[in-house]
Amino acid sequence: MKIAVIGFGAAAIGFLEKIKDSKHEIHVYEKSKDIHSSSISGIRADGKLFVSNEMGGDIYIDVKLQKRFVDYYLNHSRSGDFETGKSFANENYYKMFYEKGFLPITSDFYHLGTDQLKEVLNNIYENFSSYKNIHFRFSEKVTDVELDGDNVLINGKDRFNKALISVGRSGHKIVKSVIQKYPDLITDSSQVDLGIRYELPDHIVQELNDEMYEFKLKYKSKTGYMVRTFCNNPSGYVVTENYDDFCTVNGHAKLKDKSKNTNFAILVTVKLTQPFNDPISYGSYIAKLSNLLAGEDKVILQTYDHFKRSKRTKNLYRVLPTLSEDKYILGDINLAFPRRIIESIIDFIENLNLIIPGIANPDNLVYAPEIKFYSNKLNNNLFNCLKFAGDCSGSTRSIIYATVHGYLIAEEFLKTQK
Ligand SMILES: Cc1cc2nc3c(=O)[nH]c(=O)nc-3n(C[C@H](O)[C@H](O)[C@H](O)COP(=O)(O)OP(=O)(O)OC[C@H]3O[C@@H](n4cnc5c(N)ncnc54)[C@H](O)[C@@H]3O)c2cc1C
Repeated sequence: MKIAVIGFGAAAIGFLEKIKDSKHEIHVYEKSKDIHSSSISGIRADGKLFVSNEMGGDIYIDVKLQKRFVDYYLNHSRSGDFETGKSFANENYYKMFYEKGFLPITSDFYHLGTDQLKEVLNNIYENFSSYKNIHFRFSEKVTDVELDGDNVLINGKDRFNKALISVGRSGHKIVKSVIQKYPDLITDSSQVDLGIRYELPDHIVQELNDEMYEFKLKYKSKTGYMVRTFCNNPSGYVVTENYDDFCTVNGHAKLKDKSKNTNFAILVTVKLTQPFNDPISYGSYIAKLSNLLAGEDKVILQTYDHFKRSKRTKNLYRVLPTLSEDKYILGDINLAFPRRIIESIIDFIENLNLIIPGIANPDNLVYAPEIKFYSNKLNNNLFNCLKFAGDCSGSTRSIIYATVHGYLIAEEFLKTQK
């Protein structure tokens, strides 16, 4: 059987790991020019690997299988160094947050660090390259996928028995074009997470950082919206993330080079109903509006006190940003974000301050926009020869979930070929 894998990210890694020992001829199309510029989004950015049944995706994956893939990634680093911890395994912490209305999320995590990720990816790639049945096709962006009887035609010329689309979120254009041809693929499209990145001195959250490194919380705010923390980076750095026509804010941490600040995202989940069906455009417009105020390729930075009072920030006080100066403008996020989202974030921070004094300090830093897009949820049972794996399927949102998703689809492919 001839199989096309479109995109070499986390989901493709899981798929290839399962199928590499078969006799199938596999062609991996990757738009990046080589493995060094390859863009496995999360693996390049931070590489925090989670084992949890409460986050990472909407499919059930046994935790033993999740841990197997955590070990798989860790075993591909030469040094074997990583940081690890458990979110809310300690019952005292769990109760402390629960009492104040928060929903603590339990998970184990393993942090490889941005600096080690390239090496891990490279080692995985070298292993796959040593297989004669796997052919990497770098610099080959897929722009067209067409069903042709029981086969799949890629870019109008290459014919395969099966194809796996695993292009992550950066591949939304090709997914969109496939959906336009086959609209029955969509089962759900209504959600976007909008929010900010929050930065404060390490010492304020030191106890939590030491206890669990990543504290994951959900909270139903007084506005009715769910608010959550995401991607905590002790002694980390705030960075910007460029999309085709706007930029957002993000954070990461390195294993060796540490700052004195912790940053994490505070995100508000917005679920809209009929006739609305385009959450990506909604989030993009808010991002573009923020960029319009901040200047091209820049985000808005504001102190928490000014954020609360809708006042433009002109000076900072004790907390200094880890984001480089040319990437932000001091301003007022209230000019770009809907009121209900701002109120949800303030409600979250003020309530968190009851448990962690100092979280609501007036000179803590608020960056915007931070946005997490969800892909449309796609029906993988519609076609036998065409499947979607990882984030582009709408069913996963993490490296481990995407990897295992790819692995499970390969397992299914192998079963049907017996
Ligand atoms: C900045 C950032 C940080 C993150 N940090 C973490 C983290 O610490 N831990 C975690 O668990 N998750 C993290 N995530 C999420 C995680 O990266 C994703 O859930 C995971 O990588 C999804 O895997 P995937 O295979 O679906 O897509 P990806 O890993 O994104 O891979 C998709 C691949 O497809 C290629 N591609 C796209 N379009 C085409 C095309 N048309 N033709 C050919 N190739 C194409 C891309 O170049 C890419 O290599 C992060 C995400 C981002 C954006």
